[in-house]
Amino acid sequence: MEAKRFYAHCDLIEGTGDVYYCSFCNRLVKEKHFNEEHMNKNHNQKLKATLHEWKLKESRGTNKVRPENAPNRLKE
Ligand SMILES: [Zn+2]
Repeated sequence: MEAKRFYAHCDLIEGTGDVYYCSFCNRLVKEKHFNEEHMNKNHNQKLKATLHEWKLKESRGTNKVRPENAPNRLKE
């Protein structure tokens, strides 16, 4: 069974250079989406929340994977 990627808020989608996962909308979006739709939202907090959710999923067992150093637009 092929492992699927878990995407946290603002994670870069594998195989793309400019598409991200938006956890507020549960959609794949371009960079401009975050400024156009979520100007006043706290993206770092949302990322933390989705990473926490991911840790819980991981500890319960999941067929999804998320690399430790997954590319994310909020990090350098
Ligand atoms: Zn969004």
